[in-house]
Amino acid sequence: MLSDQDIRDLLDSIPSGVTPVVVSKTRTDEEIRRIYNLGHRIFGENRVQELVEKRDRLPEDIEWHMVGHLQSNKVKYIAPFISMIHSIDSPKLLRIVDKEAGKYGRVIPCLLQVHIASEETKFGFDSNGIRELMRSDAAHRMEHVRISGLMGMASFTEDEVKVRNEFRNLKMLYEDLKDSEAQAARGFSVLSMGMSGDYRIAMEEGSSMIRIGTLVFGPRPGSA
Ligand SMILES: *Cc1c(COP(=O)(O)O)cnc(C)c1O
Repeated sequence: MLSDQDIRDLLDSIPSGVTPVVVSKTRTDEEIRRIYNLGHRIFGENRVQELVEKRDRLPEDIEWHMVGHLQSNKVKYIAPFISMIHSIDSPKLLRIVDKEAGKYGRVIPCLLQVHIASEETKFGFDSNGIRELMRSDAAHRMEHVRISGLMGMASFTEDEVKVRNEFRNLKMLYEDLKDSEAQAARGFSVLSMGMSGDYRIAMEEGSSMIRIGTLVFGPRPGSA
């Protein structure tokens, strides 16, 4: 287990242009409080029920990010408080977030999840789907979501060249959207890429937000 000082050093080593989201799924309140007490405030979860329960028990000034696949029928539970949703993977989901956020007069920052890995199982848009969405009238009319950027997960592989290429392609898409969809891409400033195993590569390729769990807390119980 890392010492408090190790964790401080780790978080301090992340350049100021990169925001670390500490992914706390499966971690106990006690483990999360420890990181909180070191001054960290941004935590990510991937299941709605776990997220809502933790938010009820833990300090109010935590900024919670939803990083995992989000089912439309569960948006209503997180709409009152969620700080950012990284995993918008369909126009329909974005529409529902807009509707639910509207009930609280909120504007929820959302990232469009891009399918960059070669694996079949991962959710997300391809680049055409994103362009189509950002050009659509429907997206322009949504007042309660802000399309703040993109999120992507690289292939789960030891092949660093492959991972780097996937991140590089995502960065290119991000920059291109910022320019070509300038109207829709106002406030578009977040590129969420990089997890514990590949965050260094992601930062080298221009990530502005990394999602790290294992690196901070150690291996999750039951994971290899
Ligand atoms: C679990 C998870 C992470 C963090 O994974 P680690 O390998 O523990 O850093 C990042 N992003 C998403 C979407 C996750 O589900």
